[in-house]
Amino acid sequence: LQHPALTDEETMTHLLHRQIHGSLPVAIGGKGIELIDAGGKHYIDASGGAAVSCLGHAHPDVVAALHSQFDRIAYAHTSFFTTEAAERLGDRLVEDAPPGLSHVYLVSGGSEAVEAALKMARQYFVEKGEPQRRHIIARRQSYHGNTLGALATGGNEWRRAQFRPLLIETHHVDPCFAYRFREPGETDEAYAARAAQALEDKILELGPEEVIAFVAETVVGATAGAVPPVADYFKRIRAICDRYGVLLILDEVMCGMGRTGTLHACQLEGISPDFMTIAKGLGGGYQPIGAVLLGRQIFDAFANGSGFFQHGHTYMGHPMAAAAALAVQEAIHRDLLLDNVKAMGGRLTARLQARFGNHLHIGDIRGRGLFQAIELVADRGTKEPFAPGLKVHAKIKRQAMQRGLMVYPMGGTIDGACGDHVLIAPPFIVAPHEIDTIVERLGEAVDAALR
Ligand code: PMP
Repeated sequence: LQHPALTDEETMTHLLHRQIHGSLPVAIGGKGIELIDAGGKHYIDASGGAAVSCLGHAHPDVVAALHSQFDRIAYAHTSFFTTEAAERLGDRLVEDAPPGLSHVYLVSGGSEAVEAALKMARQYFVEKGEPQRRHIIARRQSYHGNTLGALATGGNEWRRAQFRPLLIETHHVDPCFAYRFREPGETDEAYAARAAQALEDKILELGPEEVIAFVAETVVGATAGAVPPVADYFKRIRAICDRYGVLLILDEVMCGMGRTGTLHACQLEGISPDFMTIAKGLGGGYQPIGAVLLGRQIFDAFANGSGFFQHGHTYMGHPMAAAAALAVQEAIHRDLLLDNVKAMGGRLTARLQARFGNHLHIGDIRGRGLFQAIELVADRGTKEPFAPGLKVHAKIKRQAMQRGLMVYPMGGTIDGACGDHVLIAPPFIVAPHEIDTIVERLGEAVDAALR
């Protein structure tokens, strides 16, 4: 498995990400839940990259589907043609969509999906004769992508600060459950009521007739580490949005497409959004793809209005991406992989509890399905996070990689609103003994990082 031509040092040193991240290993192969580097070392992909690889690597069905699509048609611009792959994927996504979502807009990734949803929501009100609606509300602990609109929507100040003034000024509300484990006294009901009230207050402050949408991740991903909502939070949010005619955009780019055990994370919340963004697990990493799902009332406003959504990307609806996504989704369905997500999710929770439940520096273990996280704390009693300067997350990542384990650690914020945490999101095909190995190696990596 030695890389045929280049040593690690000679390879790709001109790539910006390699310069920033230092000496990265060169991935030359992957099979199942493992990746292999140029030195022949194997890594368990316990994060699916960044919650992307849901079928693992080199899945034969997806490889075959891509070969077959490539032999027929690799690209057709969507202003001239649709393709069988895109049509079939669209049908499938609508068939499986949350109630009320009847149309699909295919793009090339998560940020593009968020941008498209934001613009579609804005244009929807223009089509309806309410052009004064201009505000977007989101939550402080959130990430929605890195393009300028999506970046402005996410609430993480450290990501946004250097790009001010942002093109759109989003308004952020607290709380969003992320650090609820620091306030254990409050009931779920009281917490849900408080969080929903924060949204209503913000809508009233901005003027309800000027608000376009509220954007939220159904289960918070990278910024806070697999934080599920408390019961009834989204029912309350849905009711508030309906009361003021504000659209609800759920971002399921990371938590969606089966990752939490149901195909869509919002299924467990008993509500449907007006828009839902999906990406990552949709194509399982085999091709870049994302999508926006939307309801008929949105579609009708365009159809009966200008008849045209003022947007578009060259690679949207790409047949190779659609073929990959279709093969990924068919394999998940045929092999009943959501059952495995639930079963292995239960095992992962149990193993994490056993290994870290009494750990001096683990303040919380949380998540749903194969989307779980551990939260690092300096002090178990007060739940005080580690100082960001200690870069505990980076040390854990390094230690884990040394042990042949890919997990997804994220750092704390300077204001202490968010501490270091490690996201664990293995492919849906993971086996019981692999769950055990993942937790074993993670335990060693955490202890070595804190030593
Ligand atoms: N939304 C969420 C919730 C995400 O987690 C991400 C990616 N981490 C994005 C949007 C952006 O997706 P992409 O990186 O594919 O542009």
